[in-house]
Amino acid sequence: MEIGKDFMVLNHKDFTFRVKLCIELLFNKENIEPIQNFPIEVSTRMTRTHGYFQYSRNKKQKTYKALKLNFSHKLLNGSFKNDYVNEIILHEVLHYLVFNLGYYEEKHGYIFQKYCKKYGCRLTTGSSSEEYSNKEGNEEQTKKVACEPSKYTINCSCGFKANRTRTSKIIQNIKNYRCPTCKGSLSVTQNF
Ligand SMILES: [Zn+2]
Ligand SMILES: [Zn+2]
Repeated sequence: MEIGKDFMVLNHKDFTFRVKLCIELLFNKENIEPIQNFPIEVSTRMTRTHGYFQYSRNKKQKTYKALKLNFSHKLLNGSFKNDYVNEIILHEVLHYLVFNLGYYEEKHGYIFQKYCKKYGCRLTTGSSSEEYSNKEGNEEQTKKVACEPSKYTINCSCGFKANRTRTSKIIQNIKNYRCPTCKGSLSVTQNF
């Protein structure tokens, strides 16, 4: 069901199809064989985070394994613009791609940024968090790169930029603040 030009309600099947298509396109370009039926999940419990990539590391053998891609249900219910939903999908698939290229602990680092540029993903940052579940005597360690995208960007004409995930005092009263680099006036752009 369409609810306006830019916003769209997606069912689970349509959404996972978009993700699968994105994986196929990127992996083909990089000549990597995608894992058959790689788990793509939609969670109703994710609020701040819009997506995450989960993987595990075997401490003894020092090997890594991709586990799943997880997305917030908010991406399906028409809360966000279509463009933004596609950006999040691309962003998460890029985490999965970079992992498969052998950069296991890359997160939002330099190589990740490079691939974002290559595939036209504007959403390159976002505060990430890692979660470890490590049971005693278990050699398998599970990690996740959770992506909480920056809702706002603070800009200055001198080139200064800062990302913010929440509507803070600074965001609401930007005119009262000065650029830390050049003391010039600042402006805010909303990213989604
Ligand atoms: Zn991310
Ligand atoms: Zn400045």
